Amino acid sequence: MLDTRFVLENPEAVQKNCVARGVKADLGRFVELETRRRALQQEAEELNRQANAVSKTIGQAKDDSEREARKEEGRRLREEKERKQAEVERFGAESEAILRSLPNMTHPESPVGAESASREIRRGELQPPRFSFPVLDHVDLAAQHDLVDFEGGARVSGHGFYFLKNEGVLLELALQRYALDLLMREGFTPLTTPDLARGEILQGVGFIPRGPETQIYSVENHDLNLVATAEITLGGLYAGQVVDESQLPIKLCGISHCFRTEAGAAGRASRGLYRVHQFTKIEMFAFTTPEQSEDMLNMFLDLECELFNGLGLPFRVLDIASGDLGGPAYRKFDLEAWMPGRGTAGEYGEVTSTSNCTDYQSRRLNVRYKKAGEKGTHFVHTLNGTAIACSRAIIAILENCQQADGTILVPEALRPYVGKDRIGAVA
Ligand code: AMP
Repeated sequence: MLDTRFVLENPEAVQKNCVARGVKADLGRFVELETRRRALQQEAEELNRQANAVSKTIGQAKDDSEREARKEEGRRLREEKERKQAEVERFGAESEAILRSLPNMTHPESPVGAESASREIRRGELQPPRFSFPVLDHVDLAAQHDLVDFEGGARVSGHGFYFLKNEGVLLELALQRYALDLLMREGFTPLTTPDLARGEILQGVGFIPRGPETQIYSVENHDLNLVATAEITLGGLYAGQVVDESQLPIKLCGISHCFRTEAGAAGRASRGLYRVHQFTKIEMFAFTTPEQSEDMLNMFLDLECELFNGLGLPFRVLDIASGDLGGPAYRKFDLEAWMPGRGTAGEYGEVTSTSNCTDYQSRRLNVRYKKAGEKGTHFVHTLNGTAIACSRAIIAILENCQQADGTILVPEALRPYVGKDRIGAVA
């Protein structure tokens, strides 16, 4: 959420930012509502002051009729104050709804435009491999080696769910441990997080728990929702807390399942494991001071590149355009790994995403820090980044590491965890 004062002082910049991010918002109405609300609040306070002043004079009334007249005047002032206060609340609710709909401001270097305006800024160490044999996609490779049971998943939970099997399970566990080991060496605290969170926490992080646009599964008759990402639980972990500046940056990495309804995703490339309703993810999350957040975003991106270079997978990095940033991100980078089985001749597919959300989430979640020797508090900055989203990393591994003899080489970095260097027997 943006700071009300900032919006009131910069309505034109905020409106321009909304246009760049493809968000409709009536800034004129917001300014009008807030101006009215503040004026009414002052009037209500003045009426309250007058009512108190009248009450104090009741004891000095010279007779009963004057006493009654003063009591009546006090009642009238209080009723008038209540009416004003109700209007204050009404205007406040409408202006807050507009405020909550406003996206974060945008980094001056982010490309401006829709999704297609996102700019490639980096490539991984490896180029897409050339194959001397017909390439299979991950669905066929998984079937050949009995790694995923899509039919079983569909029977038990519906389309978009699956069972991992055999080396599919080993690969998923290996990816988690590989990412955790790197992140722990980099000073991240590992956490397994709840897979359910309260509505207030989802809202604070910028997800809408219930509603037509939501990606969120909600639990009926409970204020609980299946998390779409550990960003929700890790961000929520410090809700309402004040930390000392000396504790920052706080670097966390969380393992969670991620649940997404993928409403409105029909038609987008969704074969196999690419767009599923449940997957496992290792998520990085940081709380920083405003001065630290830009460096932390670059560090998250470098770690994602290190993880995918370490797996020997080709990828590119995109600086995400304003229209595709979503609500909370101030700047966002995505890694797209080469997936030789996608499309007709291979395509890049998103595997990670990292964002600097500045103080947009902390303002809603109320996470603050205190500087030594200062009385007040400040909002922290929050950042999130995918270390490994398992189902998509598995797609990239199966498709890039397939061999002419039908086997799949396990990336060297995962071999100690998988316990073998190849899936399938050499003929
Ligand atoms: P997000 O939290 O939406 O930025 O997603 C983080 C990462 O999770 C993405 O970069 C993808 O690798 C992965 N991901 C997102 N949605 C899905 C999905 N429906 N199925 C599988 N992986 C997903």
